[in-house]
Amino acid sequence: MTEKLYWDAPYDTSFTAEVIELTPEGIILDKTLFYPEGGNQISDKGVIIKDSNKFNVEFVSKSNDLIVHHLSDPFREKLKIGDIIKGEIDWEYRYGIMRAHSSQHVLSAIFKNQLDIDTLKANISFEEVSLHISKSVNENELKDILRQFLKFCTIQKLQFRSKIVPRNEIRDYNKKLRGGFSAENNLRIIEIEDYDINCCGGTHLENSSEIGPIYFHEIKKRKEFKYFVGNKAIEMLSKENFDVIDLAGSLNISITNLHKTLETQFVQLREENEKLTLKTLELLANSPTFTLKGINIGVLNLEVDYKLVSKAFKKFPPKYVLVIKSYKKKIQILSNDEVFKANEIINELIKKFGGKGGGSPRSAQATLDNEPVDIISELRF
Ligand SMILES: [Zn+2]
Repeated sequence: MTEKLYWDAPYDTSFTAEVIELTPEGIILDKTLFYPEGGNQISDKGVIIKDSNKFNVEFVSKSNDLIVHHLSDPFREKLKIGDIIKGEIDWEYRYGIMRAHSSQHVLSAIFKNQLDIDTLKANISFEEVSLHISKSVNENELKDILRQFLKFCTIQKLQFRSKIVPRNEIRDYNKKLRGGFSAENNLRIIEIEDYDINCCGGTHLENSSEIGPIYFHEIKKRKEFKYFVGNKAIEMLSKENFDVIDLAGSLNISITNLHKTLETQFVQLREENEKLTLKTLELLANSPTFTLKGINIGVLNLEVDYKLVSKAFKKFPPKYVLVIKSYKKKIQILSNDEVFKANEIINELIKKFGGKGGGSPRSAQATLDNEPVDIISELRF
């Protein structure tokens, strides 16, 4: 069995230990500060030193009660069972993981305590967390949660404590315990002062304010979150702060009004764009690009809203084929003619230029592998 020094002394960075086994990948020690990958947390890295030989610890894994340190070569020629080695963990890397891991406990606890929402999945890596919760929250709930989360991570100190609890005593915690627990006989409990109790074998900070700034870089469906902590968060926050000040300055708007002003301008631009698109389509309906065998054919090279075009096309004169060529080799065809079917024209284009697509006789679209040089000549069916 390898004694887990990282449990009781997560802030220690070096240790001495005895080599008790050599495996094809590395060595097993009687005790270690290196955290092995598991419980959604990545492993530590660092070095193992024996006399003048230094080996990189590239990965650490768990095999039952033993912890395997995967070492750089040629460790098998230089190390043997019984050797006393010195181990040094990469502290910056470990601290970034501790910050990330502790922040995940805090955020999962806030979702549970404030909204009774469970954490489904969490992944902890260096200064980064990915967290999925069991249901979406609304905008105001999310704002409240993030505000509380940032407070706990910066100005409100919540103490983290750990202890080992025998399995038969776990019932005493059952009601208060967030999440499940493993099949082991002795369970490790992580308690956040009067706020959360959770079973976990990872490495944690002493208090929540050590987590520091948080920067969310992805939020999907208000239930899947990705964020940075530590230096990664500071880099993003300082860069974004500067960018926002710069943008507000160049637009001559105060930073507090920036978001609202841009939003209003964006809505206005979208409305203007819709009006222009409708006007262009109206012109094209009355003056087709060319006429072939009594069929009006209109070609438009423009990025347009497909729904808007479909609606406008209902007012087009009969015997009309409308072709819209947008960027990225995307082609949309609408037809109100019985003979010239949109899906057949699309299939012909796919045959010649490659790509994927389909649709109905009235409406079809495709993304072509190769862009037709002259779409008009291709349409002279
Ligand atoms: Zn943990």
